[in-house]
Amino acid sequence: MANPYPCVYFGDRILHADEAKLGVATSAILYGLSVYTVFPVLVDGGIRSAFRLRDHFRRLVESCQIIGMDRFSADWTYERFLTAVTQLVTENDPVSDVFVRATVHVDESIPGTRVRGCTVRVSMFVYDAVPIVPQDGMRLKTSQWRRIPDAAIPSRAKVNGAYVNSVLAKQDAIDAGYDDAIFLDGAGHVCELSAANIFLVRGGTLITPDVSCDILDGINRRTVLTLAAEEGIAVAERTVDLTELYIADEVFVTGTSAGVSPVIEVDGRVVAEGEPGPITATLRKRHGAALHTDGEHGWVTPLG
Ligand code: PMP
Repeated sequence: MANPYPCVYFGDRILHADEAKLGVATSAILYGLSVYTVFPVLVDGGIRSAFRLRDHFRRLVESCQIIGMDRFSADWTYERFLTAVTQLVTENDPVSDVFVRATVHVDESIPGTRVRGCTVRVSMFVYDAVPIVPQDGMRLKTSQWRRIPDAAIPSRAKVNGAYVNSVLAKQDAIDAGYDDAIFLDGAGHVCELSAANIFLVRGGTLITPDVSCDILDGINRRTVLTLAAEEGIAVAERTVDLTELYIADEVFVTGTSAGVSPVIEVDGRVVAEGEPGPITATLRKRHGAALHTDGEHGWVTPLG
């Protein structure tokens, strides 16, 4: 983790990171029964703003709803969330861009494998916005681990425990000398990376697995689809075969911690002559600008 800042939000207040503790017998620890999101806070001079904060909050609410963590939406509104984020960022006073990781934990000790009605506790911390993958051309390897299907642990809920699946795939990819892993589903179709969504370009059409392909409904995935439509680029959300990646004109990935990052190699096959392609470059530039400057989308929320 790149440089965590000293102040964290825990429960209903700001604490020093050392003081924020979850019990060893909570379901959050025992079962990974927590849901989370990560969003960027951009720092431009003295002005700080969060990107698509309302959408991140909504995904957190929906993750809780899917899992049955019903106490979160009883206690938390978007306005309360915005106030907490603003307080946290102000206390830490970052001078460059940061990521904020907000988690809702089931903070109840040994209730067994159940969830409804359990006490929840929110934690948030801030760390330097360092991308988790190379930004100038990444090399990917298909994982032998399959993506957990939506029917086992819901893909559109960002559940901490499910990330063991991502850890297995990412570690194998790193051990094999690659930057990240491509997850396939049980039928061999492309899902996503360990913590990013994937896109390819063929014949000028931007293609990405649809939201029913056992993927996280990524907020940057949605952003790129909107920006592509604005650029007049044809878009297809559909099932993707692995071999389509091998013959793609361009491949790139999206995510808060991944950015919009070009892929130059998949399973030892060079993509797009090893250079980021033009559609990738256009969307990367548009995405970078969208993070900082609010347009008609209303994606940028000033903090304080
Ligand atoms: N897929 C997975 C499994 C992820 O963990 C992430 C990172 N949150 C993404 C996709 C990208 O999502 P987002 O654009 O919302 O960061």
